[in-house]
Amino acid sequence: MEILKLQPCGKDYLWGGVRLREEYGKKIDLTPLAETWECSVHPDGPSVIANGEFKGQMLAEVLKIHPEYLGAKVKNGELPVLVKFIDAKKDLSVQVHPDDEYAKVHEGDNGKTEMWYVIDAEEGSSLIYGFKHRVTEEILRKAVETGTLDRYLQKVEVHKGETYFVPSGTIHGIGAGILMAEIQESSNVTYRVYDYDRVDKNGKKRELHFDKAVQVMNMDVAPDVKQKPRMVRYYPGSSRELLCRCKYFETERIQVKKGVPFPVSWTVKMKKKQKETQDILSYHTQAAGCSDKARAKASGGRQPIEECGRTGL
Ligand SMILES: [Zn+2]
Repeated sequence: MEILKLQPCGKDYLWGGVRLREEYGKKIDLTPLAETWECSVHPDGPSVIANGEFKGQMLAEVLKIHPEYLGAKVKNGELPVLVKFIDAKKDLSVQVHPDDEYAKVHEGDNGKTEMWYVIDAEEGSSLIYGFKHRVTEEILRKAVETGTLDRYLQKVEVHKGETYFVPSGTIHGIGAGILMAEIQESSNVTYRVYDYDRVDKNGKKRELHFDKAVQVMNMDVAPDVKQKPRMVRYYPGSSRELLCRCKYFETERIQVKKGVPFPVSWTVKMKKKQKETQDILSYHTQAAGCSDKARAKASGGRQPIEECGRTGL
């Protein structure tokens, strides 16, 4: 099977920057270019195949006709994950995502558990992750009305190369100066809790979804936030690390020394050995949406290889 390269879909959310185009070579004419959805079958930002016999076709359509690309564990030919790059020039809203059960009933979409891999972060940049004190709906409502939500939120300083796992129900906000890869369930359901009273390009404040947000939110004190990578295996000149594993996705970082080839067959062999059949797509989308320069940049001169389904960065 041929590697499927993907043309990502861009988003011009008001907090975005231009780094994904100017430094990472995305050919998408949007300003700001806040997000690129690199590997997606979600109707709100579908990927299009950029090469080979399926060139110009939607990834979602091709997978429906060729579910063998997804392996045996995925049903209905629907890719269950979505991979994005996010360039936060300004703070994103403080938000929360529902779980599957709630999202299916109220939104007709999947819930959203996500993880972040920090590709780059400005000195001193930070994000919001959960609460530092236990809260109630009343406390939150008052805090949003009076603009004092900050005092309840846990702020975490962010560094390049870190991984964060964000289960559905966790209040969070990506801070200014962070460029990251987000791996998530295939979903586009976000409940905004607070948006810094900003207005969009039409002079309008973006909608808040407080009532739904409090129904899905975990109001306990947040647990430990950072995920420590675990080495999976060394190869000559390269290594594989497990970044994050949950019931929705498993993410690895593959680092390759400059000039050292990393044959795809190594991942295939590993998978055969582990009797895994699910991940055919993973080594068919390695080059999806990311130029060599960008890949080299993403790991400080080394070249991470992207995968999907079982995702490597
Ligand atoms: Zn989010």
